[in-house]
Amino acid sequence: MDEPEAPPIDIKNEVDNDPCPPWEFLYTNLLVRGDGVPKAPEKSTLKGCSCIGGCPSDSDMCECAAKNMQLRSEVRTTTGFLYDSEGRLREFDHPIFECNDACACAEYCNNRVTQKGRRCALEIRKTEKRGWGVFAAEDIPSGTYLGVYSGELLTDEEAEVRGKTYNDYNRNYLFDVDFRYIKDYLATQRRKLKQRYTVDAMHVGCFTRFFNHSCDPNSMIVPCVFGDAYPEIPYLAFFTLDPITKGDEITFSYKGDTITNAQERQAKRARYKAKKLLGKKKTAKPGAFGKIDVPCECGSVLCEGSMWNLGSSDDEESGEEGEDSDRSM
Ligand SMILES: [Zn+2]
Ligand SMILES: [Zn+2]
Ligand SMILES: [Zn+2]
Repeated sequence: MDEPEAPPIDIKNEVDNDPCPPWEFLYTNLLVRGDGVPKAPEKSTLKGCSCIGGCPSDSDMCECAAKNMQLRSEVRTTTGFLYDSEGRLREFDHPIFECNDACACAEYCNNRVTQKGRRCALEIRKTEKRGWGVFAAEDIPSGTYLGVYSGELLTDEEAEVRGKTYNDYNRNYLFDVDFRYIKDYLATQRRKLKQRYTVDAMHVGCFTRFFNHSCDPNSMIVPCVFGDAYPEIPYLAFFTLDPITKGDEITFSYKGDTITNAQERQAKRARYKAKKLLGKKKTAKPGAFGKIDVPCECGSVLCEGSMWNLGSSDDEESGEEGEDSDRSM
């Protein structure tokens, strides 16, 4: 993905003397495909719409708008594209099917957002307790596209081998491409999921590998599919969940348990605040997290003490349990 309009990302350190983060990786916005991973789809295999000009956000008129509708539940507040007229994401629970090279519509179509690249200003800064992080260099509205989780695209089997080594070093940039929608979507095409994939940003990646974890994140990854060729391998697009103020750190949940509804997020914060007053908030237990032994320092009222899904939790909010220490959703 070229990013012709992306402002440069400044690097700042007011904490210690490190001039910049360790530049131990190849910088790219693309997925570098490893052994056993299908090649990027040819243009001729993509499916697109036949709209002229900008696509109408109406399922009867545009095949791409229809695709964006098909996995949404009966009860929905919006129709057509997941983007509004400003290119901001309106719903976070569904994969995005963007118009692509096989579509006849114009470049200015509302359903072309991530493919035009980042537009908001960001900076990378050293934090007190959590290494380097990504911060907003301007006010950013909710639903804004930030960037892609790029890296090496691996089969699950290869990722597992690497994960063991990374765990020995207490570092992990693996993100399982494990979205709930994939199976549902393949079922609509009478296909079964044969192979799972993982993106590894350890050696190859972009600024998004510096996003820190938060138990109350202000951004999340939404899968974005182009042209239908491999819904198993979406583009992992970061979008802001809440409006972000200039100077705030931008975070996402490595656990993938993000609450996408803004009111539900508010309600959960209120519940946890009340709990804290009662002295029942869990505290981080360093050493209790198994393979990757990093207590969470997100500092949010929702902090669960760990950054990874490493087993059961005694919390009322606990969702999936698992031994998996990779980033996933
Ligand atoms: Zn269209
Ligand atoms: Zn279009
Ligand atoms: Zn289209």
